[in-house]
Parts: sequence; C-alpha cells; structure tokens
Amino acid sequence: MKQYIGERKLRRKICDIGQKLYDKGFVVGNDGNISVRINETEILVTPTGISKGYMKPKCLVKMDLDGNIIGGKSKPSTEVKMHIKAYQLNPNINAVVHAHPPISTAFAVARVPMERPVLAESVINIGIVPVANFAFPGTQGVPDSIIPYVKDYNAVLLANHGLLTWGNDLKQAYFRLESVEQFGRILMLLKQIGTPYEFNAQEIDELMKIRKGLGIESGGIPRSGLEKGK
Ligand SMILES: [Zn+2]
Repeated sequence: MKQYIGERKLRRKICDIGQKLYDKGFVVGNDGNISVRINETEILVTPTGISKGYMKPKCLVKMDLDGNIIGGKSKPSTEVKMHIKAYQLNPNINAVVHAHPPISTAFAVARVPMERPVLAESVINIGIVPVANFAFPGTQGVPDSIIPYVKDYNAVLLANHGLLTWGNDLKQAYFRLESVEQFGRILMLLKQIGTPYEFNAQEIDELMKIRKGLGIESGGIPRSGLEKGK
C-alpha cells in the first residue's frame, strides 16, 4: 500500500515551498498556488488572497477530489480545479505547483513551447514544455486546458498566464518549476549568443535511455531541427 507523509509535515513543507516561490520572484503579491495529496482522496491546497511568502500551516485548506472543502477556515485558491484535474487524471501526481516565473511566463505569453533539445538534463528530466490553450481565470476552461498534458508531460505553460508543474512529491514538482524557468533562461540567452548545438536523434535516444534508467516516464521526446525553416 502507498505510504503518505503525515499531514502536519506536509503543511510545513507547503509553507516552505511557498516562501521559496516568493523569495525567488516566481510569484508576486498573492499569486500562485500549491497543493499536495494527503492520500488517495484528499489534498491540501493554499488559500486564496494570501501571499505564498507569508503562509502559516493552519491557513491551508483541506479538500476532497470532488472539490468539497473538508477542513480549514479559508477559501481555497480559485485555480484549485486545475490542481484537482491533475490528481484525477494522473494517480502518479502527488503535488502540483503553479507560479508566474517571469521567463516561463514570457514564453507562455508568446505561446512558444520549450522544446529544443539543447540541455542534457533538461531533455532527461523535463522533456518538452507545451503550451495549453488560453482560458479565462476561474473558468472551467482552465482545468480543461491542461487535460491533454497531465499524463504525458511534467510541466505546462498556461497561455498568457504562467507555469504549472507537478511531481510525485512536492520537492519534485517545485524543482521542475525551477528547472523549466532555467531552461527558459538558457533558451532566451541563446538568442543573443548564437546558434545552439541541438542533440541529434542518436544523442536523444541515449538521453532517453538515461531518463528510463532514472524511472522517469513522462516529458515527451524533444526533436532537433524544430526551429529550422521557421
Ligand atoms: Zn496564476
């Protein structure tokens, strides 16, 4: 049977990650939201209207995967439906992080996916970061927009909005967010530095073997030459 971390510890971890998101400038004001699976049917989620840098463990909201509030005095994040959709569709997901890191958000605004095979670790751990269709905040369109991606990828850019990542625990979901932002930064810098070397098909095959060895099954397979001819 799957072992879950105690709720008290999870509450502390969510606050710690919230603090990191805020300190690193991945969110400003009350932006962003974090959730963690407590067990098969329940999650903890950050409340609406509170800065992720100033949360207390008791302010978190407990919900079931039907969207009912089952604990906590605050209202959950307005984007909790997006988190719940991820848990419903992919049982391997145990944590979801949403933020507005500036470089990833710029890719999301330009609606440009991150898919060039230029960084070995990025190809292995992240793969492709697709762009989900735009949806107005708080609408059903937001959770619906991520449906095509939550099973096969590790992160998705939300068009004209921000970045969503997930993982088998909160640390993995958060590190993926950091890695996608770093990937975006490198892609952006390459525009100034020159034509990057892209891994060829054979090299990508080798990187996919390493990915498999690490037990990572999602991320999609980046292909070289996608930008050629654009
Ligand atoms: Zn947002």
